[in-house]
Formats: sequence, structure tokens, C-alpha cells
Amino acid sequence: MTLRHQLEERERRTLSPFAALAAESRGRCHPEPEHDYRTAYQRDRDRILHSKAFRRLKHKTQVFLAPEGDHYRTRLTHTLEVAQIARTVARALFLNEDLTEAIALGHDLGHTPFGHAGESVLNEVLDGGYFHYEQSLRVVDKLECRRQGMGLNLTHEVRDGILNHSRGKAILQGKRVTSACTCEGEVLSICDAIAYVNHDIDDAIRAGLISLEDLPREAIHVLGQTTSERINTMVVGLVEGSRDGVIDMVPEIREATHELRSYLYANLYPCHAIDKEIQKAKKLLRELYQHLIEHPTPESAGGDPADSLQRRTVDFIAGMTDHYALQLYQDIFFPAAWQE
Ligand code: MG
Repeated sequence: MTLRHQLEERERRTLSPFAALAAESRGRCHPEPEHDYRTAYQRDRDRILHSKAFRRLKHKTQVFLAPEGDHYRTRLTHTLEVAQIARTVARALFLNEDLTEAIALGHDLGHTPFGHAGESVLNEVLDGGYFHYEQSLRVVDKLECRRQGMGLNLTHEVRDGILNHSRGKAILQGKRVTSACTCEGEVLSICDAIAYVNHDIDDAIRAGLISLEDLPREAIHVLGQTTSERINTMVVGLVEGSRDGVIDMVPEIREATHELRSYLYANLYPCHAIDKEIQKAKKLLRELYQHLIEHPTPESAGGDPADSLQRRTVDFIAGMTDHYALQLYQDIFFPAAWQE
């Protein structure tokens, strides 16, 4: 019996009957031998962590574009905060922590530079539209290459969790939506929302865009005065509101969380200071896309020749960090400064 067999046996003995067991995974698109001492979900998590797409998250915008301040969240710190919150919940519910962490680390790999500004530009130009959760799956399935044409070759459950992670809003509205095929995937959807609602408030207060007094009073009364109090209340509400394989929050906490999220969408994200930067980022990316379609480079057109030039160019832009996009724009459209 290998160590992996023992770990799988421990999962069977100790996890909830609603947990996804590594030994019962539906497997990978391209079958490969199991590892002697890591379960399938541990391997998936490790593959994502070691990918180039994961490292690029550190220079991608969360909400504040190419921030100068060291304390603003990036996609990477957002991803790590989601992973922390989701693992806490998974452990408390006796779900599979390795699967939860793998989904968390991979869920935002498809985010463009400049956050949702980038997503909306690529959505304008790509036939069929651009959705970051579909792109996250495309990154792990195709764009990030371990071996020729196999992508990271992740398990079905991790791929499903990545594709279906954007259901947080519907769940906070109390809707029962068709979501991920595992409880771990459903936990991730809500924990993604718990993370961004809290850290976006924290960053917005840091930036001087809002103050605590601006937030809906009733929601703050229920959830708490500080970031850590609010995260804790939401996590407790999620753990206590979930039972028998149904992932949900205690209604009062769910409603307060939804109210806070709605406040951000109505007041913070469209505010002038953020929107002004978003408009600049959109202009930059539209012009970059147009230029690269008319003047493809080996990098911009370097994807799978079976894909259209449009698709390859979108993949190239989607993979850029904020810094890379800014530098490329400067190289293309600004005159070089010649030195003596
Ligand atoms: Mg996210």
C-alpha cells in the first residue's frame, strides 16, 4: 500500500459523506499514472501553483489599476485570501481541503490585465464573448503547457470548480443555482465573494474613496466594524448555514453580505476615480488589440495555428500583466528616446 493509498483511506475515514474523495475523482482528460505519495487533488494544486499563469497574477489588477501603493490587493493576493477563507470553511465542514485549495488557486487564472476593464474589451472583440471563468479553464486545459497539447491535465472536479466559480452573487441572493458538481466548488463561489467584498472595502477605505460610515449601517451592524470581524462573521455564517451537502449561509448573514456586495457594485466600482482609470485601460487594450490584429508578432500570433488569429490575439492579451500591457503599448505607440 503506497502512502497515497493511505491518504485516500484517511479521506474516506475522516471526511464528510458529501466531500469529494480524491480516490473517487472522475479523473483526467488524458489518463496518467497516479503518484506514490500525493493524491490527485494535491497534484492539481501543485501544478497550478508552479504555473507561469499563476505567477503573473501578482502583476494583475484586482480593482485598483497598476497601484503604486504596496498594500493594495492584486489578483495574486486576492487568490491567496480566497484560498485561506475557502480552506477554513472546507476544513470546518470536513470537505476536501486539497480540492478546495486547487480550485481557489486556479479560479482567476483567466483574468485579463486591468481587471474587469480588460474583460469587457475582450468581450467586445471575441466572437461568442469573453468570460474570465471560461478563460481560466482554457489556461489550465490548453495555454499553460506541461506537455505538448495536454495543458495541466487537471482532474474533472478541479476543472469544474474553476469553470463554475462565479456564482457567488446568485448564492448570496438566496437562489439555488446549478453550480459546481462538488460541495468544494460551491464553497469556493461564496468564499470568492467573501474575499473580494471585504478586501475591496479595505482597499477603498485605504484609497480614501469611501469611509466606514458610508457602508450600509444595518449590514455593518450584523457583520462587524472591522475587516477581520466581517470575514469571521461571514465564515461562521457559511459554516453554520451549510448542512447535508447544501452549501448556504445563515439567512441574516447572507442578506447582510449581499447588501454590502450590492453597495460596492452600485457605489464603489462605478465611482469616478476608478472609472476614469478603467476608461484609460479600455482605450489602451482596444488599441493594442487592433494593432496586433493588423501587425501580428510571433508572440501575439504564436498560439495554436488551428485557432483563429482573433482567438490567439485575445489569448495573448488576456495573459498579459498590467505592466506588460503598459510597456508594450509604450513600445508600439510612443517614440523611443534615443540616447547619445
Ligand atoms: Mg476571484
